[in-house]
Amino acid sequence: MELFQLSRARDLSDAIEAGAASRTAQQGAEVRFLAGGTTLLDLMKLNVERPGRVVDISRLPLNSVEATPDGGVKIGAMVRNADLAQHPLIRDAYPVLSQALLAGASPQLRNMATTGGNLLQRTRCVYFRDTAMACNKREPGSGCAAIGGFNRMQAILGTSEACIASNPSDMNVALTALGANIHIHGVRGERTVAIDDFFLLPGDTPQRETVMEPGDLITHVTLAPPASGSRSLYLKLRDRASYEFALVSAAVIVAVADGRIDHARIALGGVGTKPWRSREAEGVLAAAAPDTATFARAAEAALAGARPQSQNGFKVELAQRCLVHALKQATATA
Ligand code: SF4
Repeated sequence: MELFQLSRARDLSDAIEAGAASRTAQQGAEVRFLAGGTTLLDLMKLNVERPGRVVDISRLPLNSVEATPDGGVKIGAMVRNADLAQHPLIRDAYPVLSQALLAGASPQLRNMATTGGNLLQRTRCVYFRDTAMACNKREPGSGCAAIGGFNRMQAILGTSEACIASNPSDMNVALTALGANIHIHGVRGERTVAIDDFFLLPGDTPQRETVMEPGDLITHVTLAPPASGSRSLYLKLRDRASYEFALVSAAVIVAVADGRIDHARIALGGVGTKPWRSREAEGVLAAAAPDTATFARAAEAALAGARPQSQNGFKVELAQRCLVHALKQATATA
């Protein structure tokens, strides 16, 4: 780990002012915000992240979960994953989010990790975390050791010639299915970004994972009210039952009326370079009968664009089975 300067933000404007220094830093984002530290500190110890200045934002008053006047919910960026998963507003109205949070990491990590930090979670690609290896995401232009290397856990959707790393978060998959809005405060003021637009495909700039600019700070996330009559579910398949990242996962939100599906939102995890909203699957499900044949067609459509690597072809069928199973469970008593 390299030497860095540590300070604590007194309030939001103090944090924004500190973050503004990132915009003038000569080498990328020179300032990093420290919330739960569950990703940043690991990467600093590995010398993958080498900020000159770390600004502790853990005491900013961004740690509440509140109902909004429209029937939705506002989630502060500093709300811990464990608290969010157990919050009555989330457990009752957005079970897919609660389930996804509880499927992630370990109890100790969930007690520390925050909503804002989880949105910005970096990939678990082993080459990204090893500074001796070529990695375009860590060092643009250096190559990608995962292509032709160990790629069992990597993405099969949204990949590029420059990077095939999967987004590791469970929470982000649920938030994508829920159509969350991300609220950002930066030196140019406040803005709101729909989660579909928040994450970027790697293309030829895999070092840029989101629309966040240097010095930007996520303040909160909002969710619209649950769709009328909808049921939701998160299903995660992994190599072991706990403290493991997804091989594949599915977040489904469906409503059935008069024997037809009249609302469906589908997102997949473990397979995409970003949390993968499947409009293709949603299109198949729209107004169709909620039966196994429909679910199988939706799953086939969801993975139609998959481009597996040498070791992760199994993810295609596994993700299809995962989605079909999740849809069956979510509609079982609808
Ligand atoms: Fe780096 Fe992406 Fe290649 Fe992994 S897949 S080595 S993160 S460029």
